[in-house]
Amino acid sequence: MKVTDHFKKAKGKTLISFEILPPLKGGSMDAIFKNLDPLMDFKPPFIDVTYHREEFVYKKQASGYFEKTAIRKRPGTVGICASIAHKYNVDAVPHLICGGFTKEETENTLIDLNFLKVNNILALRGDARKFEAKFHPTEGGHNYAIDLVKQISNMNKGQYLDDNIINGQKTDFCIGIAGYPEKHFEAPNKKCDLQFTKDKIDAGANYIVTQMFFDNQVYFDYVKQCRALGIDVPIIPGIKPLTKKYQITSLPRYFYVSLPEALVSEIRKAKDDAAVKEIGIEWCIEQAKSLKAFGVPSIHFYTMGDAETISRIAKAVY
Ligand code: FAD
Repeated sequence: MKVTDHFKKAKGKTLISFEILPPLKGGSMDAIFKNLDPLMDFKPPFIDVTYHREEFVYKKQASGYFEKTAIRKRPGTVGICASIAHKYNVDAVPHLICGGFTKEETENTLIDLNFLKVNNILALRGDARKFEAKFHPTEGGHNYAIDLVKQISNMNKGQYLDDNIINGQKTDFCIGIAGYPEKHFEAPNKKCDLQFTKDKIDAGANYIVTQMFFDNQVYFDYVKQCRALGIDVPIIPGIKPLTKKYQITSLPRYFYVSLPEALVSEIRKAKDDAAVKEIGIEWCIEQAKSLKAFGVPSIHFYTMGDAETISRIAKAVY
C-alpha cells in the first residue's frame, strides 16, 4: 500500500514508522531482522531503508603506496526492502539517491522495484562523498532530487528514457522527499529552500519526511511555512534520541541541526553516556508525545540499529 494511503486509512491517528540502515558489506540480513523484530510489536505500516553512495577509501597497495578506491560500504537496499516486505508483510520504502547512479541505472532499479511490488520511494539527491567538499553529480545522472522525482513521475505516466518505448507499463510509485525544518545547509536562505521543496511537490512528490530536529517548535513553524506556500502533502516528522555526549557537537556538524540549550545543559551535566542516554530518551518521549498531540501523520524514528532504545520510547508514546 502507498504511504499516503496508510495515512488516509489511519483517519488522523498518528502512525509509527522506522528508518533502518543496510548492514555493512559482509553483514547479514539476520542482523536487520534481529533489530526489527522487537520494533514490529508497534505495527509500523512502513519501514524506510536508506541508500548509500560509494565512498572513497585509501587502500594500501603491494607497492606500499595508498590508492584512492571507491567502494559502496552498505549495498543491498532493494534486496532488504523485498526481504522485509516478504517477512513482515509491511511496506518497505527504499531511499533512492541521485549520486552514484546514471538515469539508466535508476530506471533499471525502478523497474526492479516495480516488479517486486515495492511502490513507495523516498527520492533524494544524496550527500557529497567522503573527502569531497561538495556534491558532484554522476555523469549521466541527476543533479537534484527534483530530477529524480520527475523521472519517477514520468514512469508513473508510462514514459521511459527510451522514446521508442510506446505504451510502456505505468508504474504506481508513491514518492516521498526530504524536508529541512532548519533549512538545508546549502540553500542560500529558508525561502529558497521551501520553494525548492514546493517545486518537488509540484513535480509529483506525495509526502515529505523531515530531517531530525530536537525542538518541536521548529517543526510546527516549518509545517506552517509549507502550508502558507501551498504545500498540502503529509509532512512526517523524523526524530531520534540523543544517546552519547559527543553527539551535542557531532549532530550539528553532520546534520546541520541545532540543539536546544535546555537539552544541551542537561547533557553537559551528565556523568557518563548511560546518563546521557536516559536524558535523550526522556527528551525524545516528550517530543513524540507532543507531536502526537499535534496530530502528525506518523512519527518516523531514525533507529540507527538501536531497537532497544527506540522500543522504550515507542512504548511510552503508543
Ligand atoms: P535536493 O532537493 O536536491 O536539495 C539539495 C540542495 O539543493 C538544497 O540546498 C536545495 O535547497 C538546493 N536545490 C534544490 N533544487 C535546486 C535547484 N533547482 N537549483 C538550485 N538549488 C537547488 N542521504 C543519502 O545518501 N541516503 C539516504 O538514504 C538518505 N536519507 C535521507 C532521509 C531523510 C528523511 C533526509 C532528511 C535526508 C536523507 N539523506 C540521505 C540526506 C540527503 O541526501 C542530503 O540532505 C542531501 O544533501 C540533500 O538531499 P535532498 O534530496 O534534500 O536534495
